[in-house]
Amino acid sequence: MTDQYTLQDPTTMYADIDTEAQYQEGAGLDAKLQDKADHGEKTYRGSGRLSGRKALVTGGDSGIGAAVAIAYAREGADVAISYLPEEEEDAQRIVGLIEEAGRTAIAIPGDIVDAAFCRELVATAVEGLGGLDILVNNAGKQQFRETLDEVSDDQFDETFKTNVYAMFWITKAALPHLKPGSAIINTSSIQAYSPSEMLVDYATTKASINTFSKGLAQQLAPKGIRVNVVAPGPIWTPLQTAGGQPPEKLPSVGEQTPLGRWGQPAELAPAYVFLASNESSYVVGETLHVNGGMPTP
Ligand code: NAD
Ligand code: MG
Repeated sequence: MTDQYTLQDPTTMYADIDTEAQYQEGAGLDAKLQDKADHGEKTYRGSGRLSGRKALVTGGDSGIGAAVAIAYAREGADVAISYLPEEEEDAQRIVGLIEEAGRTAIAIPGDIVDAAFCRELVATAVEGLGGLDILVNNAGKQQFRETLDEVSDDQFDETFKTNVYAMFWITKAALPHLKPGSAIINTSSIQAYSPSEMLVDYATTKASINTFSKGLAQQLAPKGIRVNVVAPGPIWTPLQTAGGQPPEKLPSVGEQTPLGRWGQPAELAPAYVFLASNESSYVVGETLHVNGGMPTP
């Protein structure tokens, strides 16, 4: 069993996950992922690092967000997750895992491309959790296109609305509820630094997320609210199989990293736990790279 606590060679971890070419329509479901991802279900051990905290994790139904939701619950936080209505099956599985950890789970389906829904999402989370002190903006859209010509105006708009505008709307709505000691964590990407030719629109949103976060971090630090970023490398999630990459490239995507393999969602969770907990009390406006060793500026 691969876990985060036993001494292991990181180049050979997850050798049993064999990512084959596969394709899903829409947002992509974890339930339909042929080669199962690891969200730490069987391995993540909490130690009270987020006791009594109240977290909203967007895109908490699958992939990185699901691993974060599980870890947060096991660290003692109540967790609200947002997701698209068609992802109910994935979301309910994560709700079950949060509840198994003895914490409150709030499931909030809806489309964050809609500003009104983003405000409603925060209100529902605050009401259900009885407050809010951790916000993880993690939901994202990634669709590869070989040429700029193939990036429709609608795709460009939806990618920016999902990745950038929603982060703005949700953060703005959350701010009145965040007391000193609260943390905001945004999900960027290696794409912000090393954009792929097929992900021009997506990579641009991820650079925007970095810049937004570094600016806002300075604005909110004097109020005792810390903003930080996690920038993942290639991670095995439904987004990748739902048009995030050309299907035939999936088996080889992780090979470009110095560790020579895909990362798993479970390997991201500790970074989000660290940035949410008071262990990172002097860490502000930082980007934590979890990318298998690819150099970043
Ligand atoms: P994922 O598909 O498991 O999660 C993305 C989630 O975003 C979905 O589950 C969905 O609930 C949510 N979402 C998308 N569009 C939405 C909309 N319009 N309304 C509401 N929710 C919506 O994939 P993931 O890879 O875990 O993605 C999480 C984050 O990590 C994204 O921001 C992604 O850009 C980022 N990221 C992923 C990788 C990777 O290799 N997988 C690398 C770098 C960054
Ligand atoms: Mg999902």
